[in-house]
Parts: sequence; C-alpha cells; structure tokens
Amino acid sequence: MTVSQENPVTDGTVFSNPGSDNPVLAMTDAAVEYRRHGQRVRALDGVDLTVARGEVVGLVGESGCGKSTLARAAVGLVPLAAGTVSFEGEPVAPLGMRRRPGRLRGLQMVFQDPYESLNPRRKVGELIADGVLLGGGSRSAGRARAVELLERVGLPATAADGYPHEFSGGQRQRIAIARTLAAKPSCLIADEPISALDASAQAQIANLLTALVREEGIGLLLVSHDLSVVRQVADRVAVMYLGRIVESGETAEVWSSPNHPYTEALVAAIPRADGAGVLPADLPGDVPDPASPPSGCRFHPRCPIARDECASTEQRLVPLGSRAAACHVRAPLPGTALDPAGAGADDSRPQASGAASLCGLSTRTSSTCWPARCCPRAPSRSHQTARSPRSRPPFRPACRTGR
Ligand code: SF4
Repeated sequence: MTVSQENPVTDGTVFSNPGSDNPVLAMTDAAVEYRRHGQRVRALDGVDLTVARGEVVGLVGESGCGKSTLARAAVGLVPLAAGTVSFEGEPVAPLGMRRRPGRLRGLQMVFQDPYESLNPRRKVGELIADGVLLGGGSRSAGRARAVELLERVGLPATAADGYPHEFSGGQRQRIAIARTLAAKPSCLIADEPISALDASAQAQIANLLTALVREEGIGLLLVSHDLSVVRQVADRVAVMYLGRIVESGETAEVWSSPNHPYTEALVAAIPRADGAGVLPADLPGDVPDPASPPSGCRFHPRCPIARDECASTEQRLVPLGSRAAACHVRAPLPGTALDPAGAGADDSRPQASGAASLCGLSTRTSSTCWPARCCPRAPSRSHQTARSPRSRPPFRPACRTGR
C-alpha cells in the first residue's frame, strides 16, 4: 500500500511514501462530494492509496470519517469529484445502468450485510454460478465451480441447494465471499465484512479473507472500525479522520508507536483481554461536520497537543521513513521551524525512520511527554500525566506495558 498526499504547504513539493511498484488498485488525489440540503459535503478529500496483490491494507477510523465512501469510490459505486481510481492500470469508471466492463470484473466488493447482498429468491448455487459466468466461465461449469468454491470457504457442497435465509450470518458472509471468488478477482474491497457477525464468526471470516489473500494472491482493502481485527490481519494500515488519511504505515509499527495523536487515541481505545488495559479518556468533542471542517489541521479542536498554529496550518501526509503522518508537530515539514534540521527543532518529534519510536524519554522534558501515556517504558505515573504545552484534558494515566 502506498498512501501519499500532496502537500500544499510547501513550494510545490510533493511527498509520497515508497510503496508497491505494481499496485493492483491505485487511488490518486481522490475526492468525493455529496450534496446535503443544498450544501456541498466533501466526504473524501485528496486521498492517495494503493493496494498490491497479496497485501492486506486496513483502513480504520471513526464512524463517518469516510471509510465506506472511499471503499465505494474504489469500486466505482460513487463518482469522484476529483482524482482518479485505477484497477490494473485501467481507470475505474463510475457504475451506471450498464453492465460493468469485463476488464473491471476482477475488482469485487464484499459488503457488510451479506443477507442484503444476496438475492433471497435464488439458491446459493445459482448465485455463485452467476459469478462464474461473470468471470468468463460457462453455465454448465457453474454448478461444479459453485460447489468447489463453497468448500473453499468452508461450507458443505449441499449448501448450493439452500436459500440464503437458511444460513447464519457467518455462513451467509462465506457465501458472499464465494460468489466474489467466482469472478476470479485480483482485488477485493471489503467494507466492514465482519461487523455484523458474532465474535467467533468474525475471527473465522477474517482468517478466511487473509488466507485467500495469501493463497490466491488477491489484494484486499479491509475497511473496519474494529482495530483489534485489523491489527491481526493487515500488513499495512491507513488511519482516516474526516475524509483524509492522517497516518499510514506497516501495521506493527503504527500500533507500537503511533505518530499522529488521533492514531494514539484509537490504539488506546482497544480493549485488552488481559485486564491490564485502562479505559481511555474520550477525545474532547465530537467528530466535526464534514460540511464545514475545521480550518488548518482538521483534528485540532480535539487534539490534546494542539498548538495555536494548528488552527491555521493545513496538514498533509509527510513521510517518516516507511510511514507517513499528517501532523506538523510529530512529522514537521522539512525546512520548517519544527524540523530538527531547522531553527526550532521540537524534541518531542519522533525520529524520521521506519522504526520511529515515541519513547523519547532521553530527550523529552516532563512538559512535553504527553505521548508517554502509551509508552511501555514510562517510569512513573507523574511522568505519564504531564500536560501538553497547550493545556487540554490529558488522557487518563496509563501505562500499556507489554503492548
Ligand atoms: S497538527 Fe496540531 S492539531 Fe493536528 S494532530 Fe498535530 S498537534 Fe494535533
């Protein structure tokens, strides 16, 4: 996955992360707008994202941040107001009343509610055989292929003779996945595919999707608000806030040392089964209305470490080695006052490397150690509870040791 966004703050400099040389799906400067009560709402704003074959890319963020809009734009279900989407090098045109072009049949979507995505009047075998036809197979081969695919997703061959309502939620999602596989996809967009399922079915479907990616060489964009699942299955993760990607990188790195304050808040909110976790403090306020997003950094009304300039300075992704973050405090633009090479270097800035660490105890003063709330090596509660330079309600003291 590559996530990159042009940075209008600089003199035409374009920052981007290194990524796959040959992505199967690529979004470039994508924007989506809706009209609401005569008002223009930009639900997606200048997003670049790529997915390679055999790669699982997790897309996370709060409800209403634009995750599902991005997923629908990726398959052409909603038109772009700006930017492009390409699949295997071919542009993805918005879907109309006509049949989708054959060259785009390898781009398939798995929906949140499998029951709504399956025709209740048709038998499961027929539904999957339709996908075989779409993938270029014959009708006579459809039945045999349907049985094969049902067994591939862990269902018995007899399921082909049943109707969707005869199956549980997890089984229906398996049927929906089998139908998408019938079209021989090279990229799947899964929009909250497990959120409507019970816990055991969630794990089974997540494992099934991951196995398909590895064994079939399919690219997968997994949209989910369940960070614990994304953490387990995604190779890379992109964090969205109010229509923009604010952080991206390899999943393990983002989880162990998030750069963006919003990512920190999301990671802190993941419950822990061992009981060592604590309740995270709420972010102040609600997610702003995308019809009138805040000026400057869109996260600044809720950011615990916001500075005065955050309200006026536009934030775009800046690379930190193999990662990227949109925060001029944590990821200052090269040549600016906050850049370590510049005049006003900020000690709390993480190192610009793929293994960036937020520990920084050797350089950070007690007045700037707010991120130590999630540092496994934070030495004391007093150190962890130090306030940010701009006094905002801090997160509750927490030492997530062992995370
Ligand atoms: S730019 Fe400012 S408001 Fe935005 S995340 Fe960084 S510190 Fe917070």
